[in-house]
Amino acid sequence: MMSTCPICGRPAAPRSQNNALPFCSARCKQVDLGEWLDEKYRIATSYDGDASEAIADSPNAVEHSHEEKP
Ligand SMILES: [Zn+2]
Repeated sequence: MMSTCPICGRPAAPRSQNNALPFCSARCKQVDLGEWLDEKYRIATSYDGDASEAIADSPNAVEHSHEEKP
């Protein structure tokens, strides 16, 4: 059975070919360990104030906007 990388969601190769399990690669493993957290933080702060846009991106929110009042 193939496991899925918790970081990028891609299928992770079997242990015999992949010593980074449960991640798909050493790169994703590093992300999980927080080694790239600093970089992630910089990206996140550049979107400061866009929280409402992230919510509108969810399917549920879109559905709500189509709701008509009687
Ligand atoms: Zn991955």
